[in-house]
Amino acid sequence: MKTSCFWTDDYPRPSTLTTGDLPKRADVLVIGGGITGLTAARRLARAGIDTVVAEAQSFGEGASALNGGMAIYGPKAPPEIVIKRFGDRLGRELWTASNAAIDRIEQTVEEEAISCDFVRSGSAELGFTRRDDRVLAAYARWAASDLEFPIEYVPSERLGEIVGSKRFSMALIENVSAGLHPAKYTFGLAEAAVRAGARLVEHAEVTAVEKQGGHFAVKTGRGGTEAGRILVATNGYTGTLFPEIRRGVVPIGSYSVVTEPLPAALAEEILPENRMAWTARRLLNYFRRTPDDRLLMGGRRNLQTDLDPAESARELRGRILEFFPQLGSYPVSHVWGGTLGATFDLLPHIGQRENVWYAMGYGGHGVPLATYLGNEVGMLMAGEIERSPFAEIPHPTRWFYRTSPWFLPLVAAAYRTLDRFGR
Ligand SMILES: Cc1cc2nc3c(=O)[nH]c(=O)nc-3n(C[C@H](O)[C@H](O)[C@H](O)COP(=O)(O)OP(=O)(O)OC[C@H]3O[C@@H](n4cnc5c(N)ncnc54)[C@H](O)[C@@H]3O)c2cc1C
Repeated sequence: MKTSCFWTDDYPRPSTLTTGDLPKRADVLVIGGGITGLTAARRLARAGIDTVVAEAQSFGEGASALNGGMAIYGPKAPPEIVIKRFGDRLGRELWTASNAAIDRIEQTVEEEAISCDFVRSGSAELGFTRRDDRVLAAYARWAASDLEFPIEYVPSERLGEIVGSKRFSMALIENVSAGLHPAKYTFGLAEAAVRAGARLVEHAEVTAVEKQGGHFAVKTGRGGTEAGRILVATNGYTGTLFPEIRRGVVPIGSYSVVTEPLPAALAEEILPENRMAWTARRLLNYFRRTPDDRLLMGGRRNLQTDLDPAESARELRGRILEFFPQLGSYPVSHVWGGTLGATFDLLPHIGQRENVWYAMGYGGHGVPLATYLGNEVGMLMAGEIERSPFAEIPHPTRWFYRTSPWFLPLVAAAYRTLDRFGR
């Protein structure tokens, strides 16, 4: 078993991706070269703005290339709560924009001819208990009537059409969501940003930013530079460079495994419609078929970022066998993990203060939402749009969160208990 990411093993960084040295100056310095930073850089460069992306590692080593590649509808926050909190106009706009994020991926992939196995195969949320049946069926009725979002309740008798497992009692399915190959997508975005005119610099961790008159003096692992404006696009890897931004995003660990490739008939049996699936739990598991028909299983029993890969592999292999005992003779080939960024209101945010912008906090929906917010923040900075709903909502923090997310073990323990009792 390899303790490295399956996706970048399957599709390593292309030799055609051009990166370079840090220039002396840029109009905009983007910190972080994942989906957010790269989509924003593409936008800015297309608007004729001199843009540099500084990435601490190599491109493809942040969460963007190693995630599950599942582009799921909505933000992490339940839409009924979003509408209640922000009112009908803004609440519904946030919901609609979150779903338009999947269209944004499709448009980008088409415009830039990024072949990344994008497929609109829809999603399935899977329940275990009678309570899940009741709660999710009621949600489906509300979403169909109030949000006009077509989501279908599939009872246990028909569940074999969706998932080849006896473990679940029902599913909610919809056809807006999509899947893609995250390494192909991220490297494709990097190449698109370069084509648009942005300059990419790797192994350039930004270690200090100081305001000097009308510009910023920036120190990186590759030397110093000057920038007129800064975009912080570091999501789950946000350090303490900008303490106020860090206080709005909590790093959460997430872990994945894939099996060896499955015979086509077995892959079909497991997920006949190739849907992106997850369990109706707080500490949820997500799973899907990879383009080469492995089963990818992800999730966590914990929220911390430093779990041992062998322990994650044992845990996730246990889940595979619990849901799909028919996969007993297909070992896990890869285990890996990364860090995502969650916010206290489970919504992503765009913010700005004195020419330092940021976009982050996708709560595990970053494949579509980082694409969307990366574009939005790029267009806002380029003056191509005047507003974005994600820039209009307050960005909450908590008095007890300064730099260390010390409370995560307590939250995980509470979630485990609620999940155990099906609450
Ligand atoms: C295992 C796993 C599975 C996931 N599965 C899914 C999924 O199926 N669907 C989904 O929608 N989302 C998923 N996510 C979340 C998703 O990957 C993220 O929300 C998304 O990639 C965020 O993109 P980003 O560009 O904002 O951040 P990232 O891709 O994390 O990029 C941030 C970058 O900033 C760099 N950086 C940090 N500090 C500095 C600095 N000081 N100087 C320079 N560079 C810096 C980091 O090196 C990093 O490369 C998953 C995440 C993980 C970890």
